[in-house]
Amino acid sequence: MQIAFIGLGNMGGPMAANLVKAGFNVHVFDLVEDSVKALAGLGATAASSAIDAAKGADVLVSMLPAGKHVRSLYLGDDGLVAHLKFGALVIDSSTIDAESARIVAKGLADKGIDFVDAPVSGGVAGAAAGTLTFIVGGSDEQFNKAKPVLQAMGQNIFHAGGHGAGQVAKICNNMLLSVLMVGTSEALKLGLDNGLDANVLSDIMLQSSGCNWTLQKYNPCPGVMENVPSSHSYQGGFMVDLMRKDLGLAMDTAKQSHSSTPLGALAQSLYAMHSLHGNGNKDFSSIFTLFGQADSN
Ligand code: NAD
Repeated sequence: MQIAFIGLGNMGGPMAANLVKAGFNVHVFDLVEDSVKALAGLGATAASSAIDAAKGADVLVSMLPAGKHVRSLYLGDDGLVAHLKFGALVIDSSTIDAESARIVAKGLADKGIDFVDAPVSGGVAGAAAGTLTFIVGGSDEQFNKAKPVLQAMGQNIFHAGGHGAGQVAKICNNMLLSVLMVGTSEALKLGLDNGLDANVLSDIMLQSSGCNWTLQKYNPCPGVMENVPSSHSYQGGFMVDLMRKDLGLAMDTAKQSHSSTPLGALAQSLYAMHSLHGNGNKDFSSIFTLFGQADSN
């Protein structure tokens, strides 16, 4: 099976590497040439453009920043809709608005091309380990068609509903994640300011009712965990500006459905302020520094 992979960033790079490892014939493209070269070094075929990568592909996976990039890749001027073969399957794993996912699904369906929205959870570590959670929107048939490819990159594959449902579930998850990250940061700093050791306090909360994913896998306080962005100057991982985008999507969705999301709205404001202070490119766990430094009271 020939697979095209477009968007080889923090997430897409390791995801494409796992498809190569699983034995697929993978053609890769990114606007950043070094990212393409890195994947070619692992056994992928370097493409000179997205169109070049898409030629002859049975399945195309995209992992791009936002909805505008995804719409433009498939339906923009000389978009891939005109270059993919009849019966091909597109898997978009970017986190984007559900409406864009539905528009792209419809545009591709008109040319006999299948589509699923399949955003992921699990971070860069999950992408590298092939343990991502995929949250899929599409028909039963499209879900089953995508499954063998998704299984090479992830562990838990959920079918959330029709087109766009994967994106709605994903932004619910990320809104909750942002609230947990802010709350965990605030609690850790309160403990530090009152003489506790961050390692000891983290161990206590891990075994208590405040336990959550950020404490288990992604502690925001530098030095508590080794292989997480907080212990590497908040580099790599999931950028503050991407979390801001996801919180924007969650707030837009809440407005449309008249839902009340006060904690999500507060997290959105805090992440916006943090980004305006020059932290947009840092990992989202850097919100911890909004409460002060770990070693100062
Ligand atoms: P990233 O910025 O590291 O990577 C995006 C890549 O897309 C870049 O390499 C960029 O050059 C490339 N790109 C942009 N437009 C392109 C185009 N037209 N053609 C080819 N390449 C193009 O971002 P990321 O962290 O890998 O995130 C990608 C998506 O996954 C986002 O929607 C994000 O919200 C979501 N996500 C990220 C994480 C995470 O932990 N980083 C976790 C879950 C979901």
